[in-house]
Amino acid sequence: MIKAIFETLCPNCGGEISAERLLKGLPCERCLPEEVKREEVCEKLEEGEFKEFCGLLFELKEWEEFFKDKLGTSPWSLQKSWARKVFLGRSFAMLAPTGVGKTTFGLSMASYLAREGKKSYIILPTQLLVEQVSERIKNFGVDEDRVIIWGKYSEKKKKELKERIQRGDFEILITTSMFLYKNYEIIPRDFAFIFVDDVDSFLKTAKNVDKVLYLLGFSEEDVNKAFELIKLKEKPKKTEEDWEEIRRKAEELREITKKKRGVLAVSSATGNPRSNRIKLFRELLGFEVGKPGVLLRNIVETYEETQNLKEKLLQRVKEFGKGGLIFISSDYGRELVYEIKSFLESHGIKAVTYEEDLKPFEEGEAQVAIGISSFKNPLARGLDLPHVVRYAIFYGVPKIRVPLKVETSVSHLLWALLSLRPIILKDQALKNEVKKVDSWIQRLRRYSFLSEDFVEDRPDLKEKIENLRKEVQEFLLRDEVVEKIKNSEELTLRLGEDGFELVVADVTGYLQASGRTSRMYAGGLTKGLSHVLVDDRRAFRNLEKKVRWFNQEITFKKLEEINLREVLKEIDEDRKKVREILEGKVKAEQKEHVKPVLVVVESPNKARTIANFFGKPMGRKIGGIDVLEVMVGDLYIMITASLGHVFDLVKDKEFHGVIARNGEYVPIYEVIEGKENIVNGLRELAQEVETVLIGTDPDTEGEKIGWDLGALLSPYIPNVERIEFHEVTRKAIKQAVENPRNFNENLVKAQLVRRIADRWVGFEVSRIVQQAFEKHWLSGGRVQIPVLGWIIEREKLYRKKKHVVQITFKENGRWLRISFEFQNKKEAKEFFENLKEIEAEVLE
Ligand SMILES: [Zn+2]
Repeated sequence: MIKAIFETLCPNCGGEISAERLLKGLPCERCLPEEVKREEVCEKLEEGEFKEFCGLLFELKEWEEFFKDKLGTSPWSLQKSWARKVFLGRSFAMLAPTGVGKTTFGLSMASYLAREGKKSYIILPTQLLVEQVSERIKNFGVDEDRVIIWGKYSEKKKKELKERIQRGDFEILITTSMFLYKNYEIIPRDFAFIFVDDVDSFLKTAKNVDKVLYLLGFSEEDVNKAFELIKLKEKPKKTEEDWEEIRRKAEELREITKKKRGVLAVSSATGNPRSNRIKLFRELLGFEVGKPGVLLRNIVETYEETQNLKEKLLQRVKEFGKGGLIFISSDYGRELVYEIKSFLESHGIKAVTYEEDLKPFEEGEAQVAIGISSFKNPLARGLDLPHVVRYAIFYGVPKIRVPLKVETSVSHLLWALLSLRPIILKDQALKNEVKKVDSWIQRLRRYSFLSEDFVEDRPDLKEKIENLRKEVQEFLLRDEVVEKIKNSEELTLRLGEDGFELVVADVTGYLQASGRTSRMYAGGLTKGLSHVLVDDRRAFRNLEKKVRWFNQEITFKKLEEINLREVLKEIDEDRKKVREILEGKVKAEQKEHVKPVLVVVESPNKARTIANFFGKPMGRKIGGIDVLEVMVGDLYIMITASLGHVFDLVKDKEFHGVIARNGEYVPIYEVIEGKENIVNGLRELAQEVETVLIGTDPDTEGEKIGWDLGALLSPYIPNVERIEFHEVTRKAIKQAVENPRNFNENLVKAQLVRRIADRWVGFEVSRIVQQAFEKHWLSGGRVQIPVLGWIIEREKLYRKKKHVVQITFKENGRWLRISFEFQNKKEAKEFFENLKEIEAEVLE
């Protein structure tokens, strides 16, 4: 055990504490004289700051027991970390694919809080989901009179319910986001917890963001101020005044953010919100909504090329069996859904469409359900039946047709440009247009969120959009662009009835729809099969390429290359397990599939690089420090930076920061000035997780920085582990987080001794030199004892062409060297000439 003392680091009293106590998870001896187990600290501790953290642990335990009692299984780590955030009063986004228990979490938290008489509001994207959830909430034992579920009721009942809502006569309110939009005036503003399930669809009406912010206690004026700041921050060329204005507004907002009452949690499955208004969450609540990079999937992805889609479909449905979803590429139009249904039924296969009641499908009476492969289709986005759905067949590559004419919708033009961009980028002649294309993409993104009515009322805006459309359309129809598309291997240009149309793959539609076959359940991730009937080879290539933007591990195989029987067998085994769990026959295996961890590295740049490898990270600000959150395989990582050393030897105490105790030398460390916010921020973050991985640099300095951080965080986190990556690549990072180790105490000791030696010799020699030359500004630099280091240093200095005077002298039989650096040669020379008693040399 390394002996060291940290000033001000006792988590309970803020006084001095030994590294030993910290690493055991204990407060200082004054706060708790006995040495107890870390689990007993809260129980034994009488009073102090740490008691607050104990309160959190207690609340968490209560909630866990409640959860277990109601559902028969313990919550997953990810759900636990969400619960911690709620109890800590922090709003957040849940970055996780559907099926990792987001809705279950929302319901359990609302029901738990209801026991204490606290109000929650659950906002869902569709009425279908409201109905599903209204069934599920019954499991949580909340008094039914205390829950208001907004459904298709009679006018009389609706009126009655609205009155109750207005009076606040409920604990849990469950509605669609449409209800919020239309009725927010009557909704009370004293929620402890607001849960927005599927924020992507919530954001289709961007003003919903404002409305939910009002519910949390902000005024219209506050929201406007925050939005002004967002716009200002995004202004391309900022003047000095703009920066001043940004600082002033940010300062003002800091006060406003204190108004927040309650916690907002939003979930995002595909997580690609493009509305600017979502940034209001960042400014007012301190969190961003990002995009999961590595989607959790356990899907065998296959394809086959065919000209006869219908016959192939029939053949495959017969082979694959029941529990099938059929997704028709949206370019065939919705009529085909019914045509396919009657076609299948004429061959004895019962089918339901997405517009019908899905009960027969759920109960196994209907073999397949038919929908459209668009992320908007309810079958592709809302359906969560892990025990029923076994496979998905795509009738044609999911694709979008973009007519190249002025009336083409903004979102279609956006798709076209996004698909074209890589092709333009590769082309020598068109390369210069990329900037223009990017700015169009940006603008189209913004406009794609505006509803038609909204635009219709604003002639200026309407004209702007029209002009943009024209510009883009002209570009797309330019001869050289058309030529590029024709020669492309991924895009198809078709001459349709009214002119040219571009065909591009609909990757979100595909991922969303196929994702229905692989769901999280209490025992893991179900295996699924996805099969694409390829009607357009180019669009398929486009799809293959685009899915890898989201998940590099997705590869399509020809159907005959897989062992279908084996795959179907595994699929059925999983469905059996899910069913048994649902029927309460077996307890879930409690296999953790997503584990939240805190990762600390040294530099913010490194943190960002790492996070960007795994998707678009979500940013959060905790206690003044920045955190990025991403999913890495089965780890949910929150990554932040220490900005190098956080602690250093104290300066004025004992012998240059080292104390002699019981015949031992013990260094005393203090927080480096200006690093207090890092200490506080890390401590606050640590309260959200059970594991921290210290990823400081793989050298002695890094080991020491990491060890310090370990000591700092140990009282809050039971598992503190060290990871190291020698290169910043996706693979290296994945390997590192999967293979944590312990701290290397020898490395830590090496740094410790070197730092002390530096300090001692540096100070003492400086003192001698200062006295000798009567120049108080002189000081000794790093001491290099080993000859090798001496040579390297000399070489380095030589190359740098600095004016350096080095002194070599013998003390206690050892050779020591000190360097003095000078800005100019004159000073160096003057100094050198004053050296008389000491053997010296000059390096240019
Ligand atoms: Zn203490």
